[in-house]
Amino acid sequence: MTLTEKTIFDKDQGKLEILFSSEKIQKRIIELGKEITKEFEGCEELVIICVLKGSVLFTADLVRHIDLPVTMEFVRLASYGDAEKSSGKVKPVDLTLPDLCGKNVVVIEDIVDTGLTAKFFLDYLKYQHKTAKIKFAALLDKACTRVHPIDIDYTGFEIDDKFVVGYGLDYAGHYRNLPYIGYFPKND
Ligand code: 5GP
Repeated sequence: MTLTEKTIFDKDQGKLEILFSSEKIQKRIIELGKEITKEFEGCEELVIICVLKGSVLFTADLVRHIDLPVTMEFVRLASYGDAEKSSGKVKPVDLTLPDLCGKNVVVIEDIVDTGLTAKFFLDYLKYQHKTAKIKFAALLDKACTRVHPIDIDYTGFEIDDKFVVGYGLDYAGHYRNLPYIGYFPKND
């Protein structure tokens, strides 16, 4: 039985309901890849910054649909710990980046909730690096829980206020490897 076919049952959270199938995610990613390719057409080097850990699968799939010369960087920020709500503080675990002066950059996030993490990192880039252009892609947008206004240039899907897991997103470190995105209805 593949991971897609298997019913996921968490001992604390109950049964996982699928919100976005793997097919639906991949279809949307192809569209986003085309949009990004068009936006940066003719660009000599596009720097993709993957915000770890949650964006790792999204980034890996998205870059394969960006038809441009790409380099990849990785930063690691934390705000949730093991909880289902943001701690309200961003912990920059690793912000190591090369000089991005004059570069075109796309920042890739898994999900924007309050917007704190995205605001922190986009502000950091703006003030610390004199980039040519910064665009921001997020697979999921929980627009209804936004506290810090953020412009998302490329959104995969907008979702309600649900705690989602899968496709890079975890609950206490688990479920990142699921090829789809789901939620535990018990928490609603
Ligand atoms: P924000 O700073 O926008 O409140 O939260 C952003 C970060 O919180 C995301 O990058 C992600 O790591 C985590 N997060 C927010 N909502 C969810 C969710 O529904 N599920 C999971 N697994 N993580 C979330």
